[in-house]
Amino acid sequence: MDIKTLDKAICGEIWTSSETWQNLLYLCDACGHRFVGSPGYRQAADYVAAKFAAYGLEKVALEPFAARGWQRGLAQITLLGSAPRTVPCIALPYCVPCDTQLELINLGYGTPEEIAKHKDEIAGKAALVMNGMPPDDKRYIHRMEKYMRAQEAGAAAFLFIDNNPGYLPITGGLPEKGAHIPGVGLTYEEGQGLVRLVQTGDKPRIRLQVESATEPVTSWNVVGELPGTDLADEIVIVGGHLDSHDLCAGATDNASGMALVLEAARALGMQKGLLRRTLRFIGFGVEELGLIGSDAYVAAHAAELPKIQFMLNLDVTGANIANALALHGCPELIPYFQDAAKEMAYDLAITSAFHPYSDHFAFVMSGVPAGSLGHTGGPPRQGYAHTPADTVDKVVPLELKISAMVAARLLLHVAQADAWQGTHKTQTQVRELVTQSPFADALRFEGRWKWSDEDEKKA
Ligand SMILES: [Zn+2]
Repeated sequence: MDIKTLDKAICGEIWTSSETWQNLLYLCDACGHRFVGSPGYRQAADYVAAKFAAYGLEKVALEPFAARGWQRGLAQITLLGSAPRTVPCIALPYCVPCDTQLELINLGYGTPEEIAKHKDEIAGKAALVMNGMPPDDKRYIHRMEKYMRAQEAGAAAFLFIDNNPGYLPITGGLPEKGAHIPGVGLTYEEGQGLVRLVQTGDKPRIRLQVESATEPVTSWNVVGELPGTDLADEIVIVGGHLDSHDLCAGATDNASGMALVLEAARALGMQKGLLRRTLRFIGFGVEELGLIGSDAYVAAHAAELPKIQFMLNLDVTGANIANALALHGCPELIPYFQDAAKEMAYDLAITSAFHPYSDHFAFVMSGVPAGSLGHTGGPPRQGYAHTPADTVDKVVPLELKISAMVAARLLLHVAQADAWQGTHKTQTQVRELVTQSPFADALRFEGRWKWSDEDEKKA
C-alpha cells in the first residue's frame, strides 16, 4: 500500500476515535501518581502492556530493572527569630533526612555567574535558587546542575523556588548519586518572601527538617513491537516515560506523551503487515529520578543498538500541539524530515538541537539517531509540570489528538522510508557532539559525564 493511503488511514483512525483521551484519563484518574515503587506505576505498566497486546503488538513485556526508591515524610522550614513561623515546602526526591539550622543566602537563578559572585559567602548556608532562567540568558540550566553547583560552592541546603505564581510547590529529583545536602521545593510566593528577607540584610535563619527514606526497588520498562516486512531488521523506537512525580498524576508530564505512544501503537497496529521497518513502542520507568529506565533499556539491549535506526521521544508532547522536532545532533536528518512534513502537509519546525534531559539521552550517548517531538511558537503557557497542578484539566483533548496524529504519521514515514538517512555516531562523534553543546559542563557537574580522563587524553 502506498504511504499516502496508509497516512490517510492513520489520520482518519485517530481523528475519529477518543482512545487517546480515554488512555490519558486511565493513566491519570485510575492509576493516580506513577512514582517509582508506587502501586500506581505498576497498575499503569500492566495497563499499557494489555493495551499494546490488544492493539496487535508482539513481544509485549515488562522488562525489570533495579532502581532506588524514595519516600517522603515531613518537610518543614521554620523561620527563626523574633517572629518564628513555618514556611511550607516539600522535599525533592532523593533528599536526605536532616534537622539543621542555617542562615539563608539568595543565589537568584543559580547561574554559574551568580554562584561565582557570591562564592565567598555561600559556605554553610541554605541557598535560595529560582527555577528557570533570567529572561536574557543564553542557555537552559537544569535543576540538577544548579543543585550540584550550589553544593560544590559549599551550600549546606538547596531551597528551590518555583518560578510561576500560583502557590505551587515545585518538585524534581536530585542527582541519584552525589547529592549530599538536603534539597526542598518552595512555592513562588513563599520563596519570594524569603528572598525579600535576605535582601533586608538581617541575616535570616531557618530550621530545616526533612524526613525521608530510600530503598532498593524493581521498576519496569513496558515494551511491545510491530514486526516489519522487508526491512524488519531495522528497528524504529518510539518511547515516553510512564512514571510521574508523586505530587499528582503528571497529566502533561508525562501521561500526555504516553497517551501518544499508545495511540501511535493503536493506529499503526491496524496497518500491521504493511509496515516495512519494525516499530517498537516503549513506556520507560523512572525517568523523573535520573533517566534510570531508558539507561537500563539501552544497557540491556546493547547488542541490538546497531539495528535501531531512530528513537523518537515523547515527553510532555501532548501538552500542546506537537509542531517541533529536535533532532539531537543529527543535522543529516533535517532534509528527510522536511520532505516528510511536506508530504504530510504539516508545518513542523525542525532543528538539530540537543539537550540531555529526557529518555532520548541514553540512545544519543550510544550513537543512535534520536529526536524529540515538542511545541514551538505562540504565547508561553504556565508550566505546571513538577507541581501538584499537573492534572488532567491542563491537557486539551484536541491538542492531544492532533499531537497523536503527528507522532504516528512521522513514525509511519520513518518506517516506510526508501532510503533512511540516519547514521550511527561513533563514540568519538558522540563526545564531540556533547563537548560542543552548551551542556558539557552541566553533565560533568551532574555526574553524567561518561568518559574517563584517559578517554579525554586519547581524544
Ligand atoms: Zn517528563
